[in-house]
Amino acid sequence: MSNASWRLSIIVPVLNERDSLQSFIAQVLPVLESCTPAFEVLFIDDGSTDETLAQLKVLNQQDARIRFVSFSRNFGKEAALTAGLAHAQGDAVIPMDVDLQDPPELIPEFVRLWREENYDMVYGVRASRPEDSAVKRTTAKGFYRLFNRITHSPIPGNAGDYRLMSRRVVNVLLQLPERNRFMKGLYAWTGFKSKGVPYQRPSRHSGESKFGFWKLWNFALDGLVGFSSIPLRVWSYVGAGVALIAFVYMLILIASVLLGGRDVPGYASLMSVVLFFGGMQLLSIGILGEYIARLFIEVKGRPLYVVQEASRSAANEQPSAI
Ligand code: UDP
Ligand code: MG
Repeated sequence: MSNASWRLSIIVPVLNERDSLQSFIAQVLPVLESCTPAFEVLFIDDGSTDETLAQLKVLNQQDARIRFVSFSRNFGKEAALTAGLAHAQGDAVIPMDVDLQDPPELIPEFVRLWREENYDMVYGVRASRPEDSAVKRTTAKGFYRLFNRITHSPIPGNAGDYRLMSRRVVNVLLQLPERNRFMKGLYAWTGFKSKGVPYQRPSRHSGESKFGFWKLWNFALDGLVGFSSIPLRVWSYVGAGVALIAFVYMLILIASVLLGGRDVPGYASLMSVVLFFGGMQLLSIGILGEYIARLFIEVKGRPLYVVQEASRSAANEQPSAI
């Protein structure tokens, strides 16, 4: 693997990671150096408000293999990853978290599977999630199960963004024009020969996870709404089923009035039926809203991110936004 005819790009989204940069670099560089002579570590500063950008500039001055792209504000990790893919120059690209939760020791194995066994995508699979709560683990599992049931490109469970992608895969990803970028779904959508590599996921090196409940919930919604129209279409069937039941009930009521005479019971049953269907209707309208809101975003076609600054080599090869 020592021939230098290929390049490796590591892309690292960072948001206020002042305290993690040094240790990340210290751990990753030796692994990369042992793996290939030609590589770059490309940081995407996702609108940090601490000294992250200043530190990236220093790192870039010290070592030209460390590059950065800096956003004008926080655009989210998915946008940062897209920017990373757009600016990366390597023949293979590996997105990594800066908090060392993606163990760099896996990189040689990723590269080996790509170079020697021709996999276009080699993804890390978390063998355990020790720091995640039981709730987070079960909801994640439930989400994957639901997602895979209602979409055509199943995503492997417990795989994150940590993976190696060949240039072919990166080019396909860059062609996808959508604004709602649920990356896990997009990776799977590309197809190609893929393989999972199990690993133990360590705890965050420093700081706190930036993904709270609401962020994860919206993330899940993006995934489901972005990759399936079933939540939209299911209402025709629900409606048909309810109409059928209502019709049968109506026949029963007519029969009972004809046979047993008039009788007006049931404030409680009337109220519960009205409230239940009121709720169902609002729910279905809400789901319509989820799709329409996304249509609205897609139609506006705004760029995914705005680059305010980039290290020299990163700045002049790509337009500032795709
Ligand atoms: N991140 C980012 N933009 C955001 C949120 C996070 O670039 O809006 C980066 C963050 O700096 C880190 C990576 O994404 O490098 C993963 O974040 P975190 O460790 O908080 O997520 P978790 O490991 O809990 O999924
Ligand atoms: Mg993390």
